[in-house]
Amino acid sequence: MAHFPPSLLDEILARSDIIEIIARHVALKKSGANMIGLCPFHHEKTPSFSVSADKQIYYCFGCGQGGNAFKFLREHDGYAFHEAVEYLAEKAGIQIPQDTEQQTSDNGQQKKRDYSILESASAAMNKALHSESGIKACNYLERRGLPAEVIRDYGLGYTPAGYGFMKRVFGDNATVNTQLETVGLLFKGEHGYGDRFRDRLMFTIRDRRGRVVGFGGRVLGEGEPKYLNSAETPYFHKSELLYAYSEHRDTIRKRKQLVVVEGYMDVLALAAHGLKIGLASLGTAIGERQIREIFRLCETPVFCFDGDRAGRQAAWRALERMLPLLKAELTPTFLYLPDGEDPDSLLQQEGGEIFNKRLQNDAKPVLESWILGLKLLAGQGAEGRARMAKKADAMLATMTDPYLMQAWKQEAERISGIPLQRRRPAVKSTEADSHLVPGFILNAIEERFMAGLMQDTQRLSQISGAGLDFFIDKPSLRALYSRAFSMQADADTQTIDIARQLIREFPEDQNMISRWINQPTVQDIEYKSLLLDMEANDIKNRIRQGVNLGESVQLQTRLRELQAEQQTLKEQLSNTGA
Ligand SMILES: [Zn+2]
Repeated sequence: MAHFPPSLLDEILARSDIIEIIARHVALKKSGANMIGLCPFHHEKTPSFSVSADKQIYYCFGCGQGGNAFKFLREHDGYAFHEAVEYLAEKAGIQIPQDTEQQTSDNGQQKKRDYSILESASAAMNKALHSESGIKACNYLERRGLPAEVIRDYGLGYTPAGYGFMKRVFGDNATVNTQLETVGLLFKGEHGYGDRFRDRLMFTIRDRRGRVVGFGGRVLGEGEPKYLNSAETPYFHKSELLYAYSEHRDTIRKRKQLVVVEGYMDVLALAAHGLKIGLASLGTAIGERQIREIFRLCETPVFCFDGDRAGRQAAWRALERMLPLLKAELTPTFLYLPDGEDPDSLLQQEGGEIFNKRLQNDAKPVLESWILGLKLLAGQGAEGRARMAKKADAMLATMTDPYLMQAWKQEAERISGIPLQRRRPAVKSTEADSHLVPGFILNAIEERFMAGLMQDTQRLSQISGAGLDFFIDKPSLRALYSRAFSMQADADTQTIDIARQLIREFPEDQNMISRWINQPTVQDIEYKSLLLDMEANDIKNRIRQGVNLGESVQLQTRLRELQAEQQTLKEQLSNTGA
């Protein structure tokens, strides 16, 4: 990974606007010193996501995610760190010095060229669709009722029959051929390079950032395979991608509605009927990573399956994969379509409005689908009930939410009539919830005190004496606390923002620092009172831990002084009527 000088990162952040970056995805409104909105990282009905325009730092009081603009671009938009740096630098008109760039340039420049050739390929395929050779594909799309804007917006295209389309578009030289092979558009055979996609209707596949990373190609007429995707490349990882993710993400969040369908045409048919809420896996069974993404976007996704046997099997596989990720807050549902129909065919018959009603009214809760699946799987009679109990036990073992697991267990026991063995949920997956684990627990006074300091780091210079020894018993916080003072003491700190710099230097604490910054403003008088409380608590701790008599007397005296000062503050407060 590239190493960027800290001063450069500071400059880029100072000249970027985090509000603008976040406002692309979140409707923000003013609240006190900050802007607030609905969190894009978890699902909520009342806003707990706060952005400090002053410090350029966001924090969600619901799920604990926080950080600066680089982190938002990484966590939300899927940028790599160096990409986030390059992106914001370019936007701010800051030149990244040559020697820094050198380390990423070979890799970075190559990637840029690869993404650009994929983008150009998509455009060329779209052009071919509207050319004479694309007439068959065009007719097919017309029969399926896809309007021109869907064809354009989703980058549909055509690759002509025979070999040589890529050569005609990009020329024929060693460099270009190697590049086209890397991005999965050419393959190398015995007789040289050949086009991977020939005589196919093409679907452009984009990553989370909306960059073209690969393609799906559907045969027109007879032929095998019916769908051919790009091979795995450095850019195209089938198991991580969802079709139409970047196109639909914001609409899904806004409407709080998401439907998972099986094919590209289903997604597009939904979009053509005003339902830009469809996602699909890329021709393979939906995997855990994809389900995780789906739950991040929406609490109530509808998984839509064909009503036939294959559809039920696909539903069961999806259910098995989602068990470890289920939580009581999530309510996925399963919709089985009438036998012989798919979303595309139904939408053509009944239109978007009726289909949307289906999504809302006919989809079954995931628990009901589970019981139904178990019954079908186990069969009849006493043996059937035993098989059902056994299978239920095994599946419950993969669940991680203890409450939900209990509820499901009770239901399976009720249906099978057999008490199940499973009592404890699987070890909680740390990946999903690691951001909820606080670095260390602070009490309310410590929390507000740190908020007061981070919100106005000038206050650091007013701390002396006992205040310099706070948090002695909390080593990891202590490191950060001391570092804040040494930054303050540095001559050139007048120009830098200490809170922002701490976030950079203590990446593991950035959620916490972001939380302090986005807390309701700590006014001067509250801060003064907190400082007194901090010292008083510190003294009480020391007395509790044991001190000699002389020290004790001294500390008691100081404690009384602090209490008197606190009293004075309270009187001031009531006099000002605040
Ligand atoms: Zn959140």
